Amino acid sequence: MMPDKAAINHAVETAYSDHAKDTGGANASYIPYLASVDPSLFGVCVVTADGDVFEAGDTGFEFALESISKVFSMTLAMQEVGLPEFHDKVGADPTGEPFNSVMAVAMHDNKPVSPLVNAGAMSTVSLIPAESPDERWKKILDMQSAFAGREIRLSDAVNDSEQSTNFHNRAIAWLLYSGGTMYSDPMEACEVYTRQCSTLVTTRDLATMGATVAARGRNPVTGKQVFDAALVPPILAEMTMEGMYTASGDWAYKVGLPGKSGVGGGILAIMPGTLAIAAFSPPLDPVGNSVRGQKAAAQVAAALNLNIYNAT
Ligand code: GLN
Repeated sequence: MMPDKAAINHAVETAYSDHAKDTGGANASYIPYLASVDPSLFGVCVVTADGDVFEAGDTGFEFALESISKVFSMTLAMQEVGLPEFHDKVGADPTGEPFNSVMAVAMHDNKPVSPLVNAGAMSTVSLIPAESPDERWKKILDMQSAFAGREIRLSDAVNDSEQSTNFHNRAIAWLLYSGGTMYSDPMEACEVYTRQCSTLVTTRDLATMGATVAARGRNPVTGKQVFDAALVPPILAEMTMEGMYTASGDWAYKVGLPGKSGVGGGILAIMPGTLAIAAFSPPLDPVGNSVRGQKAAAQVAAALNLNIYNAT
Protein backbone atom coordinates (compact mmCIF):
# COMPACT_ATOMS: atom_id res chain seq x y z
CA MET A 1 0.00 0.00 0.00
CA MET A 2 1.27 3.49 -0.85
CA PRO A 3 2.06 5.51 2.29
CA ASP A 4 0.60 9.01 2.24
CA LYS A 5 2.72 11.87 0.98
CA ALA A 6 3.03 13.66 4.31
CA ALA A 7 4.33 10.47 5.91
CA ILE A 8 6.93 9.94 3.16
CA ASN A 9 8.04 13.54 3.37
CA HIS A 10 8.39 13.33 7.15
CA ALA A 11 10.31 10.04 6.95
CA VAL A 12 12.80 11.46 4.43
CA GLU A 13 13.30 14.73 6.34
CA THR A 14 13.77 12.90 9.64
CA ALA A 15 16.17 10.30 8.24
CA TYR A 16 18.23 13.16 6.88
CA SER A 17 18.24 15.35 9.98
CA ASP A 18 18.77 12.45 12.41
CA HIS A 19 21.93 11.39 10.58
CA ALA A 20 23.20 14.66 9.08
CA LYS A 21 25.90 14.97 11.73
CA ASP A 22 26.89 11.29 11.91
CA THR A 23 30.49 10.44 11.28
CA GLY A 24 31.90 6.94 11.06
CA GLY A 25 33.21 4.86 8.22
CA ALA A 26 35.77 5.88 5.62
CA ASN A 27 35.67 6.67 1.91
CA ALA A 28 36.80 3.86 -0.38
CA SER A 29 40.54 4.36 -0.79
CA TYR A 30 41.46 1.69 -3.35
CA ILE A 31 40.04 3.90 -6.13
CA PRO A 32 41.91 7.23 -5.83
CA TYR A 33 38.97 9.35 -7.08
CA LEU A 34 36.60 8.02 -4.42
CA ALA A 35 39.05 8.82 -1.64
CA SER A 36 38.87 12.50 -2.65
CA VAL A 37 35.05 12.96 -2.45
CA ASP A 38 33.82 15.20 0.42
CA PRO A 39 32.78 12.74 3.16
CA SER A 40 30.27 15.19 4.62
CA LEU A 41 27.96 15.00 1.59
CA PHE A 42 24.64 13.34 2.43
CA GLY A 43 21.39 12.96 0.54
CA VAL A 44 18.17 10.99 1.01
CA CYS A 45 15.48 10.61 -1.65
CA VAL A 46 12.30 8.61 -2.21
CA VAL A 47 10.64 8.25 -5.61
CA THR A 48 7.30 6.47 -5.63
CA ALA A 49 5.89 4.12 -8.25
CA ASP A 50 3.56 7.04 -9.12
CA GLY A 51 6.53 9.33 -9.82
CA ASP A 52 6.33 11.54 -6.72
CA VAL A 53 9.73 12.73 -5.44
CA PHE A 54 10.69 13.47 -1.83
CA GLU A 55 14.21 14.56 -0.99
CA ALA A 56 16.49 16.05 1.64
CA GLY A 57 20.14 17.09 1.65
CA ASP A 58 22.64 16.87 -1.22
CA THR A 59 20.34 14.96 -3.58
CA GLY A 60 21.60 16.81 -6.67
CA PHE A 61 25.28 15.96 -6.13
CA GLU A 62 26.65 13.57 -8.77
CA PHE A 63 28.59 10.59 -7.46
CA ALA A 64 30.00 7.41 -8.95
CA LEU A 65 27.37 4.70 -9.45
CA GLU A 66 29.92 1.89 -8.90
CA SER A 67 28.45 -1.48 -7.98
CA ILE A 68 24.85 -0.33 -8.23
CA SER A 69 25.46 -0.39 -12.00
CA LYS A 70 25.44 -4.18 -11.72
CA VAL A 71 21.65 -4.13 -11.25
CA PHE A 72 21.07 -2.32 -14.55
CA SER A 73 23.50 -4.39 -16.61
CA MET A 74 22.01 -7.55 -15.10
CA THR A 75 18.55 -6.35 -16.19
CA LEU A 76 19.86 -5.70 -19.70
CA ALA A 77 21.46 -9.13 -19.91
CA MET A 78 18.32 -10.85 -18.55
CA GLN A 79 16.25 -9.00 -21.10
CA GLU A 80 18.53 -9.66 -24.07
CA VAL A 81 19.48 -13.30 -23.51
CA GLY A 82 16.33 -14.37 -21.64
CA LEU A 83 15.99 -15.48 -18.04
CA PRO A 84 16.65 -19.24 -18.51
CA GLU A 85 19.94 -18.67 -20.30
CA PHE A 86 20.98 -15.89 -17.94
CA HIS A 87 20.33 -18.03 -14.89
CA ASP A 88 22.09 -20.96 -16.51
CA LYS A 89 25.23 -18.85 -16.92
CA VAL A 90 25.23 -16.63 -13.82
CA GLY A 91 24.04 -17.72 -10.38
CA ALA A 92 21.66 -16.26 -7.82
CA ASP A 93 23.35 -17.21 -4.58
CA PRO A 94 25.00 -15.25 -1.81
CA THR A 95 28.78 -15.54 -2.00
CA GLY A 96 29.54 -14.96 1.68
CA GLU A 97 32.65 -13.23 0.39
CA PRO A 98 33.70 -9.61 -0.27
CA PHE A 99 32.51 -7.98 -3.54
CA ASN A 100 35.88 -8.47 -5.23
CA SER A 101 36.16 -12.13 -4.23
CA VAL A 102 38.11 -14.42 -6.52
CA MET A 103 36.10 -17.33 -5.08
CA ALA A 104 32.94 -15.83 -6.60
CA VAL A 105 34.19 -16.92 -10.04
CA ALA A 106 32.75 -20.37 -9.25
CA MET A 107 31.95 -22.10 -5.96
CA HIS A 108 29.36 -24.91 -6.11
CA ASP A 109 28.60 -24.87 -9.85
CA ASN A 110 30.87 -23.96 -12.68
CA LYS A 111 29.42 -20.50 -13.00
CA PRO A 112 29.90 -17.14 -11.28
CA VAL A 113 27.95 -17.12 -8.04
CA SER A 114 26.12 -13.77 -8.40
CA PRO A 115 25.80 -11.03 -11.02
CA LEU A 116 26.02 -8.47 -8.20
CA VAL A 117 29.67 -9.03 -7.33
CA ASN A 118 32.59 -8.24 -9.59
CA ALA A 119 33.13 -11.75 -11.02
CA GLY A 120 29.52 -12.36 -12.03
CA ALA A 121 29.12 -8.74 -13.09
CA MET A 122 31.95 -9.02 -15.63
CA SER A 123 30.54 -12.29 -16.94
CA THR A 124 27.14 -10.54 -17.20
CA VAL A 125 28.64 -7.71 -19.25
CA SER A 126 30.23 -10.25 -21.59
CA LEU A 127 26.83 -11.89 -22.14
CA ILE A 128 25.17 -8.74 -23.50
CA PRO A 129 24.95 -9.31 -27.25
CA ALA A 130 26.98 -6.76 -29.23
CA GLU A 131 29.23 -6.57 -32.28
CA SER A 132 31.85 -4.53 -30.44
CA PRO A 133 32.76 -3.32 -26.95
CA ASP A 134 31.57 0.17 -27.98
CA GLU A 135 28.15 -1.15 -28.88
CA ARG A 136 27.97 -3.10 -25.60
CA TRP A 137 28.97 0.01 -23.66
CA LYS A 138 26.35 2.12 -25.46
CA LYS A 139 23.63 -0.39 -24.61
CA ILE A 140 24.63 -0.29 -20.94
CA LEU A 141 24.76 3.51 -20.83
CA ASP A 142 21.39 3.76 -22.61
CA MET A 143 19.94 1.35 -20.07
CA GLN A 144 21.25 3.41 -17.13
CA SER A 145 19.77 6.53 -18.77
CA ALA A 146 16.38 4.89 -19.36
CA PHE A 147 16.27 3.82 -15.70
CA ALA A 148 17.20 7.33 -14.53
CA GLY A 149 14.99 9.17 -17.03
CA ARG A 150 17.81 11.44 -18.11
CA GLU A 151 21.06 11.11 -20.01
CA ILE A 152 23.63 9.51 -17.73
CA ARG A 153 27.25 10.15 -18.61
CA LEU A 154 30.65 8.70 -17.93
CA SER A 155 33.01 10.56 -15.63
CA ASP A 156 36.43 10.53 -17.27
CA ALA A 157 37.98 11.32 -13.89
CA VAL A 158 36.40 8.28 -12.20
CA ASN A 159 36.98 6.05 -15.20
CA ASP A 160 40.67 6.98 -15.56
CA SER A 161 41.15 6.46 -11.85
CA GLU A 162 39.59 2.99 -11.99
CA GLN A 163 41.00 1.77 -15.31
CA SER A 164 44.52 2.53 -14.08
CA THR A 165 44.08 0.64 -10.79
CA ASN A 166 41.75 -2.31 -11.63
CA PHE A 167 44.41 -5.05 -11.67
CA HIS A 168 42.44 -7.28 -9.34
CA ASN A 169 39.36 -7.18 -11.58
CA ARG A 170 41.51 -7.94 -14.62
CA ALA A 171 42.79 -11.04 -12.86
CA ILE A 172 39.22 -12.12 -12.08
CA ALA A 173 38.30 -11.58 -15.75
CA TRP A 174 41.09 -13.95 -16.85
CA LEU A 175 39.98 -16.54 -14.29
CA LEU A 176 36.44 -16.38 -15.70
CA TYR A 177 37.88 -16.82 -19.16
CA SER A 178 39.92 -19.84 -18.16
CA GLY A 179 36.84 -21.35 -16.52
CA GLY A 180 34.76 -20.89 -19.69
CA THR A 181 32.38 -18.36 -18.15
CA MET A 182 33.52 -15.22 -19.97
CA TYR A 183 31.62 -14.71 -23.22
CA SER A 184 33.64 -11.93 -24.83
CA ASP A 185 37.27 -10.90 -24.73
CA PRO A 186 38.02 -10.76 -20.97
CA MET A 187 39.94 -7.49 -21.01
CA GLU A 188 37.21 -5.84 -23.06
CA ALA A 189 34.57 -7.06 -20.59
CA CYS A 190 36.64 -5.74 -17.69
CA GLU A 191 37.07 -2.40 -19.45
CA VAL A 192 33.33 -2.03 -20.13
CA TYR A 193 32.47 -3.20 -16.60
CA THR A 194 34.82 -0.57 -15.17
CA ARG A 195 33.14 2.10 -17.30
CA GLN A 196 29.68 1.13 -16.15
CA CYS A 197 30.86 1.72 -12.55
CA SER A 198 32.28 5.14 -13.50
CA THR A 199 29.08 6.91 -14.49
CA LEU A 200 27.70 9.73 -12.36
CA VAL A 201 24.25 9.77 -10.77
CA THR A 202 22.52 11.93 -8.19
CA THR A 203 20.62 10.52 -5.23
CA ARG A 204 17.47 11.59 -7.09
CA ASP A 205 18.55 9.61 -10.19
CA LEU A 206 19.22 6.58 -8.03
CA ALA A 207 15.77 6.74 -6.43
CA THR A 208 14.19 7.08 -9.89
CA MET A 209 16.18 4.06 -11.10
CA GLY A 210 14.85 2.05 -8.17
CA ALA A 211 11.32 3.36 -8.65
CA THR A 212 11.47 1.98 -12.20
CA VAL A 213 11.85 -1.49 -10.67
CA ALA A 214 9.16 -0.71 -8.06
CA ALA A 215 6.82 0.32 -10.92
CA ARG A 216 7.25 -3.03 -12.73
CA GLY A 217 9.81 -1.83 -15.26
CA ARG A 218 8.10 1.44 -16.17
CA ASN A 219 9.97 4.61 -15.34
CA PRO A 220 7.32 6.48 -13.31
CA VAL A 221 8.80 9.88 -14.17
CA THR A 222 9.14 9.48 -17.97
CA GLY A 223 6.33 6.92 -18.36
CA LYS A 224 8.60 4.77 -20.54
CA GLN A 225 8.60 0.96 -20.18
CA VAL A 226 12.30 0.28 -19.65
CA PHE A 227 12.23 -3.52 -19.28
CA ASP A 228 9.81 -6.42 -19.11
CA ALA A 229 7.82 -6.58 -15.85
CA ALA A 230 8.53 -10.34 -15.65
CA LEU A 231 12.13 -9.50 -14.75
CA VAL A 232 11.20 -7.70 -11.52
CA PRO A 233 11.05 -10.77 -9.23
CA PRO A 234 14.43 -12.18 -10.32
CA ILE A 235 16.03 -8.72 -10.11
CA LEU A 236 14.76 -8.34 -6.55
CA ALA A 237 15.77 -11.91 -5.67
CA GLU A 238 19.33 -11.23 -6.82
CA MET A 239 19.41 -8.00 -4.81
CA THR A 240 18.16 -9.79 -1.71
CA MET A 241 20.81 -12.50 -2.02
CA GLU A 242 23.87 -10.36 -2.64
CA GLY A 243 22.98 -6.66 -3.02
CA MET A 244 24.64 -5.69 0.26
CA TYR A 245 27.50 -8.22 -0.01
CA THR A 246 28.24 -10.06 3.24
CA ALA A 247 25.70 -7.85 5.00
CA SER A 248 22.87 -9.01 2.69
CA GLY A 249 21.39 -11.44 5.24
CA ASP A 250 21.48 -8.93 8.09
CA TRP A 251 19.96 -6.29 5.80
CA ALA A 252 17.12 -8.64 4.79
CA TYR A 253 16.55 -9.55 8.44
CA LYS A 254 16.58 -6.01 9.79
CA VAL A 255 15.28 -3.92 6.88
CA GLY A 256 13.41 -6.39 4.69
CA LEU A 257 13.84 -4.58 1.38
CA PRO A 258 15.97 -5.72 -1.56
CA GLY A 259 18.97 -3.39 -1.54
CA LYS A 260 22.11 -2.54 -3.47
CA SER A 261 25.16 -0.58 -2.49
CA GLY A 262 28.14 0.88 -4.31
CA VAL A 263 31.56 1.94 -3.05
CA GLY A 264 30.78 5.47 -4.27
CA GLY A 265 28.51 5.73 -1.22
CA GLY A 266 25.14 5.08 -2.86
CA ILE A 267 22.48 2.81 -1.34
CA LEU A 268 19.25 1.75 -3.01
CA ALA A 269 16.31 -0.09 -1.40
CA ILE A 270 13.15 -1.11 -3.23
CA MET A 271 9.63 -1.88 -2.06
CA PRO A 272 8.03 -3.51 -5.11
CA GLY A 273 4.83 -1.85 -6.29
CA THR A 274 5.38 1.09 -3.95
CA LEU A 275 8.60 3.10 -3.97
CA ALA A 276 12.37 3.21 -3.89
CA ILE A 277 14.60 4.78 -1.24
CA ALA A 278 18.04 6.09 -2.23
CA ALA A 279 20.70 7.50 0.05
CA PHE A 280 24.21 8.78 -0.56
CA SER A 281 27.09 9.31 1.85
CA PRO A 282 30.69 8.40 0.89
CA PRO A 283 32.08 6.88 4.13
CA LEU A 284 31.76 3.08 4.05
CA ASP A 285 31.80 0.30 6.61
CA PRO A 286 34.37 -2.52 6.24
CA VAL A 287 31.97 -4.49 3.98
CA GLY A 288 31.84 -1.58 1.52
CA ASN A 289 28.36 -0.25 2.31
CA SER A 290 27.69 3.42 3.11
CA VAL A 291 27.40 3.86 6.87
CA ARG A 292 24.94 6.76 6.88
CA GLY A 293 23.24 5.59 3.70
CA GLN A 294 22.29 2.31 5.33
CA LYS A 295 21.01 4.04 8.45
CA ALA A 296 18.96 6.56 6.51
CA ALA A 297 17.43 4.01 4.12
CA ALA A 298 16.63 1.63 6.99
CA GLN A 299 15.03 4.45 8.95
CA VAL A 300 12.78 5.51 6.04
CA ALA A 301 11.72 1.90 5.46
CA ALA A 302 10.88 1.38 9.15
CA ALA A 303 9.04 4.70 9.46
CA LEU A 304 6.83 3.80 6.49
CA ASN A 305 6.36 0.18 7.58
CA LEU A 306 7.84 -1.12 4.33
CA ASN A 307 9.16 -4.68 4.50
CA ILE A 308 8.60 -7.30 1.81
CA TYR A 309 8.43 -10.01 4.49
CA ASN A 310 5.67 -8.12 6.27
CA ALA A 311 3.72 -6.78 3.30
CA THR A 312 0.19 -5.62 4.05
N1 GLN B 1 34.24 -0.45 -9.57
C1 GLN B 1 34.28 -1.07 -8.29
C2 GLN B 1 35.11 -2.34 -8.36
O1 GLN B 1 34.96 -3.08 -9.27
C3 GLN B 1 32.88 -1.34 -7.79
C4 GLN B 1 32.84 -2.04 -6.45
C5 GLN B 1 31.68 -1.72 -5.58
O2 GLN B 1 31.00 -0.70 -5.70
N2 GLN B 1 31.47 -2.55 -4.60
O3 GLN B 1 35.92 -2.62 -7.52
